Order: sequence, then C-alpha cells, then structure tokens
Amino acid sequence: MSAKIISGKDLSAKLIKEILVPRVEKLKKQGITPKLIVLLVGTHTASASYVRQKELSAKKAGIISETWRYEKNVTETKLLKEIEKINKDKTIHGVIVQLPLPAHISIQKVLRTIHPSKDVDGFTPENIGKLFLGEPTIECCTPKGIIRMLEESGETLEGKKVTVIGRSNIVGKPVAALALNKSATVKICHSRTKNLNKEISDSEILIVAVGRPGFIHGDQIPKGCVVIDVGIHRKKEGGLCGDVHFESAKKKASKISPVPGGVGPMTVYSLIENTIEAAENTST
Ligand code: NAD
Repeated sequence: MSAKIISGKDLSAKLIKEILVPRVEKLKKQGITPKLIVLLVGTHTASASYVRQKELSAKKAGIISETWRYEKNVTETKLLKEIEKINKDKTIHGVIVQLPLPAHISIQKVLRTIHPSKDVDGFTPENIGKLFLGEPTIECCTPKGIIRMLEESGETLEGKKVTVIGRSNIVGKPVAALALNKSATVKICHSRTKNLNKEISDSEILIVAVGRPGFIHGDQIPKGCVVIDVGIHRKKEGGLCGDVHFESAKKKASKISPVPGGVGPMTVYSLIENTIEAAENTST
C-alpha cells in the first residue's frame, strides 16, 4: 500500500485561482484592493524565504503585499508605533509580524498591539479566544490550512479520532480546537505524554507538529491513518524534510501530506484568504 499524497502545493494553487481571484475581483469592483503588510525584523534566512512565498501567492491572488523591513536592533517602541500606524490606515487590511523576533522585543506586546480585525495570522488573544469558543473569527493560518486540506482531500472530521502531537499556541492547540469544532474526537499529545505509541495507535487522523525531523516513523502509524506533517526542517545535505519519516509512513498511511509542498503552501493560502476576508469585512 502506498498513501495518496495530499499536495498542499497543488491544492493552494487551485484554490487561489478558483476561489480567491474571483473574491478579489469583486472587491476591486467596489474600489477595495486587499493589502497585507509583513513586518520583518532582521535577516533570518528561513523568514526571508517564507516572506518571498507570501509575496508570490499574494501576487497570484491579485492582492497587494508589502514587506516592511527593520534592522535587528529596531526598538520595541518603534515596532509598536508602526503597528499603531497600520491599525489606523484604512488602506491596509492585514498585518503580520514574521517570527522569530529578536529577544529584546516582546511577542506578547506586539501581538496585543495589532488590532484584531487586521490580525490575519489569527494570533491575538481575541481571535484565539473566539476560535476556542467556536465563534466566527480570523483563524490562525497553519491550523486553518490543515483543516482545509483534510476536507478538500475528502476527509470528514465529524466523529473521527484525531490525534495532534504538539501543543504550541500557533499549531497544536488551535488545530485541536478547530478539529473539535468540527466534532472530531481529539487527543493532544506532547513532550510529557507517557507511551506516545499507545496514545496514537487508534488514530484515524494524525497531525504531527513536534519540530523534530523524522520524529514519527511508519511503524508507529496505524494502518490506513491520514497523516498531516506540519514540521519543516532544512536537511544538512540540502532540501527540506518534515516531522514524519515520509518513506516509511507512506507505506502505512492512507493519505499523507509531504514536506515540502504540504502544509506550508496551505498556511500561505490561509494568510492570503484571511487578508481578503478582513478586506471584505470592511466593505460590509
Ligand atoms: P514548538 O516547538 O512550539 O512545539 C513543539 C511541540 O512538540 C511542543 O508542544 C512539545 O510538547 C511537543 N513535543 C516535543 N517533543 C515531543 C516528544 N518527544 N513527544 C511528543 N511531543 C513532543 O513547535 P511549533 O511551532 O508547533 O512547530 C512545530 C513544527 O512545525 C516545526 O518544525 C515548525 O517549523 C513547523 N511549522 C510549520 C508551519 C508550516 O506552515 N508548515 C507553521 C508553523 C510551524
């Protein structure tokens, strides 16, 4: 058996063309062009590469995306002032701060300064809170992208046993909440979980967000399980890999998302969609 590949790359390209482009055209007819600002501090290599991917997808969807760059020693006060300026600017619909930030800048302060209506990463306490309450909100991009790729691949979450490995605020916790909102039976495993193999042994859907290359191997995966690999790692020999050992996992899974070309492009897709949604909210 070899798993069906859930290609986030192909799916995001299709959805941009079929769903986002028409939404942007409709907004443009009303005189609104969705605009996203990415705040990039320093010259982190991985961040610069993510920023390029975001700009490329924004262009394909027809929205404006600008990257505002700051030296790594920019003060917290300056960055907060820039965000306040963006909050007041009616031509800007979404803003994200590319993480990681240098240690002297408080991520919490930065996130609490972004107005929730422009928080297209979905990281502000208000948006995260609404997500956990199951209320409509701007949902965080990676979790939203994961649920979308599962549904588009034909999976219904209702009643399914979903195991999430990882409990970070940006992936593990919110993806578990979104799956729960879809009536899945959700289990969250993490670094203190005892007997991980036993905990994942009855999973129908396994979402792996651990941040360790090749952490989950095929022999740990229940036969026929759907596997979503969130991890991204640069290999020493070049190229990328995920948290799941792809070659062994695809022999056990019924469907699997690859790295690269899986969750990453769906995260970017969700960011562009959130920006369009934020712009639509200003037109109503
Ligand atoms: P994180 O480091 O914040 O969290 C990792 C989680 O893994 C923790 O909650 C921890 O409890 C759990 N963990 C660690 N060791 C474990 C173990 N031995 N057993 C079980 N659980 C264990 O990471 P994150 O921000 O959630 O990111 C996870 C991975 O996903 C990283 O590789 C990151 O680069 C990647 N990522 C990808 C995207 C994307 O768009 N594709 C977005 C965000 C993060």
